[in-house]
Amino acid sequence: MRTEIGRDLALADALQQPVWTARPDGTVDYANPFWRAYTGLSWEASLGGGWANAVHPDDVAAIETRWREAACTGEAYEIEYRFRGADGTYRWHIARVAPIRETDGMVARWVGTALDIDDRRRAEAALRTSEARYRDVVDNATDIVYTLLLDGTISAVNPAVERVLGYRPDELVSGSVEAIIAPDHRERTRDVLQRKLAGEEVSAYDLDLVAKDGRRVTVEVNSRRAVVDGQPVAIHGIARDVSARRALEREQQEFLEAVSHDLKNPLTAVRGQAQHLRRLLHRGLVDPPDKLTQALDAIEASATRMRVQLDELQDLARLRAGHPLELQAAPTDLAALIRAAAEDAQASTGHHRIRVEAPAALWGRWDALRLRRVLDNLLGNAVKYSPGGGRIGVTVEEVSREGIGWVVVGVRDEGLGIPAVDLPHIFERYRRGGNVTGRIGGAGIGLAGSRQVVEQHGGTITVVSVEGQGSTFTLALPL
Ligand code: ADP
Repeated sequence: MRTEIGRDLALADALQQPVWTARPDGTVDYANPFWRAYTGLSWEASLGGGWANAVHPDDVAAIETRWREAACTGEAYEIEYRFRGADGTYRWHIARVAPIRETDGMVARWVGTALDIDDRRRAEAALRTSEARYRDVVDNATDIVYTLLLDGTISAVNPAVERVLGYRPDELVSGSVEAIIAPDHRERTRDVLQRKLAGEEVSAYDLDLVAKDGRRVTVEVNSRRAVVDGQPVAIHGIARDVSARRALEREQQEFLEAVSHDLKNPLTAVRGQAQHLRRLLHRGLVDPPDKLTQALDAIEASATRMRVQLDELQDLARLRAGHPLELQAAPTDLAALIRAAAEDAQASTGHHRIRVEAPAALWGRWDALRLRRVLDNLLGNAVKYSPGGGRIGVTVEEVSREGIGWVVVGVRDEGLGIPAVDLPHIFERYRRGGNVTGRIGGAGIGLAGSRQVVEQHGGTITVVSVEGQGSTFTLALPL
């Protein structure tokens, strides 16, 4: 027996890998030259319990526990631990420890070998980290990330689907994707899937899904097929909720149409007046001058209207880009400004009566041009949205609130009023009353711009309105 082990040890001496043997009680009685060279420990230091000096302190207990278990069962085992090299660095090893038995089956010795698996462990750890990071990205993405099987079964989908569609991932996985596609978009989706699977490049496309609560949600889909051994096996994709963006694009489109429509009216008037003037000239009728003056006044008024609309558009562009307006505050007589605005509004209509109740003068530091635009807007709306004519009242008062002087301007009409459902949103961009949309022209930007101007002056603008009875807009500006 002894001679056999002796011959084996001669073999172990030559192995370029750590080898050791231990007695049945666990004390090491041999460590091969490679073991000693690797750890830098001498022959004496390697024996007995010396191995513990060549192992990471955190791993010693696990090795001892595993050894005690094996000593009871007499079975071979494997264990991974960090082995310290002569230079003090630790590298992961896997040790394989097996019993050498006497003929009677009793364990005579244990023999252990160790294999350096540090590179593999490192690669696995890196993979685990990158997989965890990938999962983290997918789990926290705001876009839906999904995998479909070839038959359209959803095999995986991330939590974003709940935010977008209201379904939890587990409610969708294993079901058909068609269940959440709007019925009128299913055919098209099937077609795209077929083309994708056939390997055709399909660029991102819009698709309507149906949320749990029945809402239609437009998503932009970007997907590609997954191929294994040349065969398509699945479709991986990302679906981004673009409903809000698409709605905004539609609104902007409508807005642009409305604005160009609004600009055409004064332009047509300018052209009409110019042609009228030309006819007068042709007929040598530059006299009497009042006719000429009338035509020129009309041209000027139209140009002013266009100027106002373009200024509004410019302000709106600034607001959209998140830039505040640059107010040009200067001493301004608000009472005079209001009277002038009311006079102009009165000149534009024959069947409204505009009355102003205001003090003789009311001085403050304001941006006169922009406040004039606000007033033109309110008065213009009062006229426009009282198609049957009627009274329009403008009141101007000075009040004191919490020790601060305010000027409060009211513009009251007896027109169509604003439906209660629209009232809370009427100062929002592009919002128009349901009772006027499609009946009376407008872009839905005047009030939004007015609110911005008033708020930048430190003031407020509010409305009280009853549909069918009329509206009162109230402006409060700090003095
Ligand atoms: P526009 O008049 O171009 O639509 P505004 O922003 O000035 O845009 O007004 C937004 C909406 O508010 C209007 O479309 C209309 O529905 C409602 N509105 C504003 N003023 C009045 C008013 N005096 N009477 C009734 N509705 C009004």
